[in-house]
Amino acid sequence: MDVTEIRVKLVDHRQERLLAFCTVTFEQAFVVRDVKIIDGPRGPFVAMPSRKVMDRCSRCGSKNHLRASHCNECGQRLDPNRAPTDARGRPRLHVDVAHPINQACRDAIEKQILVAYEAELERSQQPDYVAPTLGDDNDEFGADPSVLLERRRERAATAQKQRGQDGMSELQAG
Ligand SMILES: [Zn+2]
Repeated sequence: MDVTEIRVKLVDHRQERLLAFCTVTFEQAFVVRDVKIIDGPRGPFVAMPSRKVMDRCSRCGSKNHLRASHCNECGQRLDPNRAPTDARGRPRLHVDVAHPINQACRDAIEKQILVAYEAELERSQQPDYVAPTLGDDNDEFGADPSVLLERRRERAATAQKQRGQDGMSELQAG
């Protein structure tokens, strides 16, 4: 299944690791919104659209997020650690609503999205840059190109520092 269009909306939140929202079109026929590009420890990666996992309050039956400590509806105390855990013991709080079902497909899509992200980042440095329109509420999250550039420099510096530290520990280990 071919990706036929990727729209990248750059964001510049300082606090979060969110770099961009993407809208991805397959075969000029099927659109997936809310694909995110996240700044990870090994560089940007793609997160498929997901939603919070909910469960039902034992008293009133209304839905609450698994991390909620009290029921939103009736105020019943809830165990904030009730989320089921994955193989590595981490709580499963989100579930992907659209995602590739094999690694080859995931890799192919991620690669194309990251290429589109880099291209958008380059474009954003043009003086006449106009951010793309996604046609949804993510359009509200604009980005200041100068802040993007600054953040990119910060990330490059951090990555370089990290590589330096890795090099040092390898030297020490060897
Ligand atoms: Zn309740």
